Amino acid sequence: MVKLTTAEAMQKAIDKARAVKPMVRIVNFGSYTVTNKQTGATYSVKCEKRNGERIADCDCKAGARGLRCYHVAAAAGCHIILAAERATLHA
Ligand SMILES: [Zn+2]
Repeated sequence: MVKLTTAEAMQKAIDKARAVKPMVRIVNFGSYTVTNKQTGATYSVKCEKRNGERIADCDCKAGARGLRCYHVAAAAGCHIILAAERATLHA
């Protein structure tokens, strides 16, 4: 479980995501798969709000240990855009 806090805290993971350019697929709102196109490795990332905090889970080794992996950064970037679109649609 990873808490999504500030962009600064996520910066290393965001930089890694920019370098790796993984493919993010939307399973449904809040649920994503992130594929490293070089290795073919695919991980599942869930983004949700728990008790008012933004939380992400990734099933890779780093994510399981609560580290901010680039899968979370990539999925969260996609999730934030989707959440903003939903907020606009429902406003
Ligand atoms: Zn991960």
